[in-house]
Amino acid sequence: MRATMILLLAFAIVISAPLPSVAQTKTPPTLDIYVIDVEGGNAVLFVSPSHESLLMDTGNVGAVAAPRDAGRIVDAMKDAGVQRIDHLITTHWHGDHFGGMAELASRVPIREFIDHGPNVQPGEVADAFLQNTYPKLYANAKHTVAQAGDTIAMAGLDARVVTSAGKTIQTSLPGGGAPNPYCASFKGGENNAEDPQSVGILVTFGKFRAIHLGDITKNKEFELMCPNNRIGTVDVLLGLHHGVDSSNSEVLVHALRPRVAIMNNGTRKGGQVEVMKTLHSSPGLEDLWQMHFSQLSGQEYTVPGMFIANVLDEPLAAMPVAPISAPPPGPDAPPAPVHNGRAYWIKVSARTDGSFTVTNARNGFSKTYSARVRPGAS
Ligand SMILES: [Zn+2]
Ligand SMILES: [Zn+2]
Repeated sequence: MRATMILLLAFAIVISAPLPSVAQTKTPPTLDIYVIDVEGGNAVLFVSPSHESLLMDTGNVGAVAAPRDAGRIVDAMKDAGVQRIDHLITTHWHGDHFGGMAELASRVPIREFIDHGPNVQPGEVADAFLQNTYPKLYANAKHTVAQAGDTIAMAGLDARVVTSAGKTIQTSLPGGGAPNPYCASFKGGENNAEDPQSVGILVTFGKFRAIHLGDITKNKEFELMCPNNRIGTVDVLLGLHHGVDSSNSEVLVHALRPRVAIMNNGTRKGGQVEVMKTLHSSPGLEDLWQMHFSQLSGQEYTVPGMFIANVLDEPLAAMPVAPISAPPPGPDAPPAPVHNGRAYWIKVSARTDGSFTVTNARNGFSKTYSARVRPGAS
């Protein structure tokens, strides 16, 4: 009898105990990065776990392009659940980088405007914007001229300026500093005055590292990466100056050893043969993701369609096999294939252990890159 009582008591205790929780495995917080389609321009949104936002560039100028690109940025903000831009970096004063800024500022609050300083490449549109529009946009916000070495204050991650106004960081970051073996075979390349002024940042989130260097050219890549690689290696290389061949030297790409590169190319901008060869031969590169198929790659050099976020308004039955050469710029150049319709981003969700997932919003294709020991990391 006594034994039965004890048994019953024990049973009662067991059934009255709280059920073990099955929902203990909470999703870890992620740094989310949206590479937004702005038609061969640049707009990349970083959102921290605490929903702080950093936007690099605002897409293209133009009566059609500026509202289109600002709208695409707002769509990404909605998806990320952010209502304002905490930090806006304008990498440099080209129309494919600051073009949608006024439109965006009319739709969402922007708290800080970051740039490299004055325009060094005189041009009507940029100069008029800097004189008449920009000061009004930052009048009630914070305006910061970035210097290499600066940190952009964001909770939970480290956003470090590594290039700005033609200067690069002079001391190596943690994980960097080793001699760069690619410097010996470097071949220079320049473009124009503004591209090398670009504000470039390295974003570190735990063990995860992503870099975006705006449109810096080969000569500036050399200054940053030689004779010693001051950056070290990265998980994700963003932007790539649209994949054009005045940038993307081995000195940069191969030495950074990205696992993933995401190229903000246009339908006929970037993705040139030389760049594609550099990327496809980059040590440790697992995948290249592209904003568009580029005619300058052709099927010969492009990645499979599942890694490409956007198509054209008038889809082709088949992509041409051979790459084409870009027509000489000017009023007689035939227009590049148009994409003003629905646009898709490529989203990176990174975790502090260094693992990350990349998703193509067009087809839902998603790939997770598991955490791994970075070569050279201790
Ligand atoms: Zn597009
Ligand atoms: Zn550009």
